[in-house]
Amino acid sequence: MQFQKPKGTQDILPGESRRWQFVEEKAREVCRRFLYKEIRTPVFEATELFRRGVGETTDVVEKEMYTFEDKGGRSMTLRPEGTAGVVRAYAENKLYAVPGVTKLYYIGPMFRYERAQAGRYRQFHQFGAEAFGSDDPALDAEVIALGRSFYQAVGLAGFTLEINSVGTPEVRARFRETLLRFLEPKKDLLCRDCRARMERNPLRVLDCKVDQAHFEGAPSILDHLDDACARHFDKVQSHLRAMGIPFSINPRLVRGLDYYTHTAFEFKAAGIGAIDAIGGGGRYNGLVAHIGGPDQPGVGFGIGLERVLLVLEKQGAELPGEAAPDLFFVALGEAAEARAVALLHEARERGFAAEK
Ligand code: AMP
Repeated sequence: MQFQKPKGTQDILPGESRRWQFVEEKAREVCRRFLYKEIRTPVFEATELFRRGVGETTDVVEKEMYTFEDKGGRSMTLRPEGTAGVVRAYAENKLYAVPGVTKLYYIGPMFRYERAQAGRYRQFHQFGAEAFGSDDPALDAEVIALGRSFYQAVGLAGFTLEINSVGTPEVRARFRETLLRFLEPKKDLLCRDCRARMERNPLRVLDCKVDQAHFEGAPSILDHLDDACARHFDKVQSHLRAMGIPFSINPRLVRGLDYYTHTAFEFKAAGIGAIDAIGGGGRYNGLVAHIGGPDQPGVGFGIGLERVLLVLEKQGAELPGEAAPDLFFVALGEAAEARAVALLHEARERGFAAEK
């Protein structure tokens, strides 16, 4: 009997693994410069954490989670994204008690039961960053700058940045009414997913790839921001401009996850068919409290590393391959053989990549 890897997963083989090390090294190097420290959290957590932390009405929670009961009868889920676990660890380990902003990053596998295709996997890897403890729009801009520096460090060309403000829950509740008034007469024209979204999470309708043609003249959340939200959004933009970071405003960008407040952003690049999202994030001021921690604001992103590598390969970027040996020993005869074994070992002990 021969086994095959599960659908939507990949073997990263010798030759390819060097590329993975390269993008991971770049992520670590950029985080060192921005003073973000690594955090490693479990790949599975209590299912309830993701229900609360990612949001009941999201596709991720509704359809895509790998959930299982462990032998103790607890419902566990393989993490579909990184933020919820990091927020849990931040609260549980009282990282908020350390003065100043807590700046963290992670690299690791995520799991979503999705329809597998190029750029969409059931096990994929994210590099993510999260910063807790400050409302300052400069921190939103810093997190965006960190993401951008990573793409630049790996040599990605031609990627774009879109930003939006999704306001506060109160702003969204008001906008929801206006939006529903606009959508109601078009309901029968919309796709099945969008008709369902209209009931539970209408803001996400505007993000639909299929129905864009029907959204001409749709109301914009940016016209519904209150003063504080508008000020926050303006500040994020002026900080980005100050750093020379180009962006465009996409008022329909909402992100799939429920917990965002104020800034939402997405990095896009062409090269993987219809898929163009290579990373995204935003501010989530209510999330830490929502999962039982203190009321601390946060902002972060998740970047899909498979997609970054796919786009790099498509662009013909020069990526490192496996290293060649520094020294190669050839031994002729038995005496030389014994000596070669000793020399080979000594060379390796002294730091050379040596082979016989
Ligand atoms: P999300 O939390 O859905 O915005 O995901 C953040 C980033 O992770 C996306 O921009 C993608 O680059 C990547 N990503 C999300 N889902 C998948 C997947 N199923 N396969 C590969 N990459 C993914």
